[in-house]
Amino acid sequence: MTRNVQPMAVTRADFDAIMVPNYNPAAVIPVRGKGSRVWDQAGHEYVDFAGGIAVTALGHCHPRLVAALKDQADKIWHLSNVMTNEPALRLARKMCAATFAERVFFANSGAEANEAALKLARKYASDRHGDKKQRIVAFNQSFHGRTLFTVSVGGQPDKTKGFEPLPTAIDHVPFNDLPALERCMGDDVCAVIVEPVQGEGGIIPATPEFLKGVRKLCDAHGALLIFDEVQIGMGRSGHLYAYMGYGVTPDILTSAKALGCGFPIAAMLTTAKVAASFTYGSHGSTFGGNPLACAVAEAAFDLISDPDLLAGVRSRHERLIAGLKPLVERYDLLADVRGSGLLLGLVMSPAWHGRGREVLNTAIDNGLLVLTAGKTIIRLAPALNIPEADIAEGLKRLDATLAQCQEKARKS
Ligand SMILES: *Cc1c(COP(=O)(O)O)cnc(C)c1O
Repeated sequence: MTRNVQPMAVTRADFDAIMVPNYNPAAVIPVRGKGSRVWDQAGHEYVDFAGGIAVTALGHCHPRLVAALKDQADKIWHLSNVMTNEPALRLARKMCAATFAERVFFANSGAEANEAALKLARKYASDRHGDKKQRIVAFNQSFHGRTLFTVSVGGQPDKTKGFEPLPTAIDHVPFNDLPALERCMGDDVCAVIVEPVQGEGGIIPATPEFLKGVRKLCDAHGALLIFDEVQIGMGRSGHLYAYMGYGVTPDILTSAKALGCGFPIAAMLTTAKVAASFTYGSHGSTFGGNPLACAVAEAAFDLISDPDLLAGVRSRHERLIAGLKPLVERYDLLADVRGSGLLLGLVMSPAWHGRGREVLNTAIDNGLLVLTAGKTIIRLAPALNIPEADIAEGLKRLDATLAQCQEKARKS
């Protein structure tokens, strides 16, 4: 017999008692969201400049996404890849129509999409050159995920410490440094993987000349070019994918965070020629291409590929920069603001390096959700459709946050 019971009450303290301690979540627990506002257990309201780390790109509980999920929930939830499904094929067709891609592989997370991309690049080279072309070149500070392969390809050595032995034939060179890449390239390189805008590494856009040069060097050495657009893709740069704004086309592109706007899904996009190396049985994923995920992502893709929405990202960028520049002037805590579209980084001055968490917690006290990136950056990744009123209110709360942080520091 089923009994109608209240869900068990939980608190932040339970996290420390029952969860693996690889995260250190904030003191409050959000329970509800609508658009760019979020409410916690106690009913306190927050302006969301974090977007679940660049994930909830259309805000919380967008009616079209909720409808797509509910509609699919009444049809079919899961089939496995022994069958195909309509939502996956519809989404893949739209992604191919809107991008350079001719083939799509679905996964569940950014790391898995990158894992697929790196494996495909190795396999493509192996099919043509045997064991003579296995080296992967990536960039310092880059972030590509947390599987052992993707974290090893990432350019943050602190994240692989203790997990050795690591995959081999991976080199790292400084980002935005074409001569360094040129020195590192060779005919044994199967792929170069790059974030067009580094996210976790500190919100650092690639220069157009750099990406154009990377493309040329890949072509000269017969290496595939992989763009990791897990964070900057799906409209965040003000273009559907950042490569479109740069005018540099990769051979493989990965998309995840905002693809399902909060429903877990990722995709690896590529050409028919490259895709051919993933022959039947060579790679797979139980949940990849799940109908619920693909139905939500199809609705998200329709909304985000709308030119008006993308133009809105570019105007919101201008609006935010205009609001943030005076804060950089006013507060010693901040040294600069940079970024692309609605992925923005407030660079902290040296005295504040490593203290981003203080700012984040003070922001929460002021009813504002923000993020950090590395030890030096306060990161903003609001929804792409964030209303003007929420931008204005968020900036006001950020102003108050920075004032309090500096006041506390002055007193201590
Ligand atoms: C977040 C991120 C990833 C990893 O995605 P997960 O879904 O956490 O596996 C990979 N690359 C970039 C650029 C990211 O920002």
